[in-house]
Amino acid sequence: MDNKRVFLSLSQQSGFEQEYVQKALETHWITSGGPNVDAFEDELEKYFGSDNFVTALNSGTSAIHLALILLGIKSGDEVICQSLTFSASANPILYQGATPIFIDSEADTWNICPKALEGAIEDRIAKGKKPKAIIAVHLYGMPYKADEIHTIADRYGIPVIEDAAEALGSSYKGRACGTLGTFGVLSFNGNKIISTSAGGALISDSKLLKERAIFYATQSKEDAVHYEHCHIGYNYRMSNICAGIGLGQLTVLNENVGKRRTNHFFYKSIFETIEDAVLLEVSNEAVFSNYWLSTILVKPNTEKKRDRESLRLAFETANIESRPLWKPMHLQPIFSGYPYYGNKVAESLFERGLCLPSGSHLSEDDKNRIKEVIINFFE
Ligand SMILES: *Cc1c(COP(=O)(O)O)cnc(C)c1O
Repeated sequence: MDNKRVFLSLSQQSGFEQEYVQKALETHWITSGGPNVDAFEDELEKYFGSDNFVTALNSGTSAIHLALILLGIKSGDEVICQSLTFSASANPILYQGATPIFIDSEADTWNICPKALEGAIEDRIAKGKKPKAIIAVHLYGMPYKADEIHTIADRYGIPVIEDAAEALGSSYKGRACGTLGTFGVLSFNGNKIISTSAGGALISDSKLLKERAIFYATQSKEDAVHYEHCHIGYNYRMSNICAGIGLGQLTVLNENVGKRRTNHFFYKSIFETIEDAVLLEVSNEAVFSNYWLSTILVKPNTEKKRDRESLRLAFETANIESRPLWKPMHLQPIFSGYPYYGNKVAESLFERGLCLPSGSHLSEDDKNRIKEVIINFFE
C-alpha cells in the first residue's frame, strides 16, 4: 500500500472537457462569453427546468455580488448572512459598502437558524433598519430549512440569496437547490461538485434579470456604437474556455453526486458503531443532500485525549487531508465588528467539526487507509 496523499475534495474529469476546449481554441473563441457559454447556460437551464434563467460567471463570489447589486444593496444597507460559511458568502456585502448581520446555525442542518433569523429581523427593525436581503447557505450540500426560512423572509418582504455553491445536485422537497430563493448562486471552483477550473452562476426566474446580470458582468455597456457607461461595470462573465470545461463536466454531474453520496454511506457504516463521533445526515426524507463533503462532530474525550484536532493530526500522520469546518464569520477578524445573533451553536460546531476526505475519486485503497485511521483513533 503506497502512502500518496489523500486530498479533501479533488474534482474528477469526464474526458469530454478537452474536446470543447479544443473547439474553442480552433474557432478563436477564447474570450468571455461565446458558444460554449451559451450552451453551458442552456444545459443548466434544462437541468433546473424552464422557468429558471442561468447566467454563467467567472466565480460564485461574483454571482453573490451581482445578486446584491441587482437587489439594489447600497452603502449603509444591512444584509443578513449565515455565520457558519465560507467567507465568499459574506465578502460581497462589504464590496457594496453594506453591513453584514450574522446569524447562528441550528443543530440539525448546521445552516441558518430560523429562530435566530426572525429574532434578528425583529431587532434590526426595532433599531430602525429593515435588512435588505438574506444570504442563506446549503452548507456542505445540506439543504437549509427552506420552508421555515422563506416563510420568515416572505413575512417581512426580504429577498433571499440562496448560496448553493456547495449544493448542486441537492434538493429540498423535490425542488433543486439553487432554484428556491430570489436568486440562486452556484460555484464551479476547483473543489466543487463539478468544476470549470474557476466559475460560477447566478440563477433567477426572469429573462430580464438574466439580461441585467450579463449587462453588469460585461462592464455595463449601454446601447451605443461607442462605449457608453451609466453604471459601474464588472468583468464577471465566464470565459468560453471555462464553459467548455463545464460542458464536459456536466456529463458527470450525476455520477459525481452519486460518488459523493457513496462516500457518505461509507462513513455512515463506520460511524454507526462509534459513540464519540456523529456524522451529519439529512433529518428527513424530503431533503436530499449531494453530501459534497462528509462531515462529523467529534465529542471531546479528555480521558482518552481525543478531540477534533487530534483526529485531524492522526489523519495527517497517515498523509490524509481533513479540515476543520468553516470558521464562523462573526469570529473572523475582518468581520468582528458586525452584529451577530445566536446561541453559540456555530462556535460549538466549529470546535468539534471535521470535514472528511470526500473527493469523487476516492479509491478502495484510500478508503481502507481512512477507515484504519478512524478505527484506531476511536478504539
Ligand atoms: C465556494 C463557495 C463560494 C464561492 O465560490 P467561488 O466560485 O470560489 O467564488 C461561495 N459560497 C460558498 C458556501 C462556497 O463554498
